[in-house]
Amino acid sequence: MPDAMDAVQADVDARVEDALRRHRATVRERPEGLTHCEVLDCREPIEEARRLLGARLCSDCQREEDIRAAQFAPGRGR
Ligand SMILES: [Zn+2]
Repeated sequence: MPDAMDAVQADVDARVEDALRRHRATVRERPEGLTHCEVLDCREPIEEARRLLGARLCSDCQREEDIRAAQFAPGRGR
């Protein structure tokens, strides 16, 4: 039954293509981080691992930002 096999194969191809398309869309939607810290007088390079997570600050500035956020918004957020 070559026709049936072709139909199954075509269905699988369509599913894989659909999944790939959805995956690419998700990747594109995610805001990519910056290669260098966005603090103007810092500009330290950001490690790739953190950049891929959408980081826009170097680890030093991120730590300061976290501290500042915790001070200005006690008990809020994480
Ligand atoms: Zn920085």
